[in-house]
Amino acid sequence: MTSEQLLKVLEEVGAVRQGHFELSSGLHSGTYIQCAAVLQFPNHAEAIGHAIADEFRDLKVSCVVSPALGGVIVGHEVARAMGTRAIFVERDRSGQMALRRGFEIRPGERTLVVEDVWTTGGSTRETLGAVEQSGGLAVAAGAIIDRSGGRLELNVPAEALLEMEVPSYEPDDCPLCRAGGVPMRPGSRFARAGS
Ligand SMILES: [Zn+2]
Repeated sequence: MTSEQLLKVLEEVGAVRQGHFELSSGLHSGTYIQCAAVLQFPNHAEAIGHAIADEFRDLKVSCVVSPALGGVIVGHEVARAMGTRAIFVERDRSGQMALRRGFEIRPGERTLVVEDVWTTGGSTRETLGAVEQSGGLAVAAGAIIDRSGGRLELNVPAEALLEMEVPSYEPDDCPLCRAGGVPMRPGSRFARAGS
């Protein structure tokens, strides 16, 4: 799947939405990309997972880790395509991203972190930290879409299928707020901002 094909699919399923949104990073934007709109179709999810897996085949990972909830389906499909297992991190009582449900990473295990959309990459950064804390070796990070506009700062090689140039703003610098609008919160996170 090329980035052109992915963009076409995203548009077909209505995953690219216009309005006024508060992203899970806390930033505001006039554009929201709802990856669930495309991942609800298993054939699209599988093709996307395959395309992400192709970027990382040389790395010989044996585990894919995703931040819940947005990264779970795409991580699962990447793992299917790579023949590895797929696990996920989620917030514990203290609000930290952690492995739960008996998930484990072996000491030094080569691990790929996968999520759906990078805005600032906060969720991926937290997931990389959780892998490290578990004794694993996070070797790279992948995503369906990078909408960070070059602001992504990760300490591992990172590759997204599609880079989208869509502006996002600090809340007190948001032109949509200044125009009197109230942002919607379409993301899945209730807890502390981060991504
Ligand atoms: Zn706003």
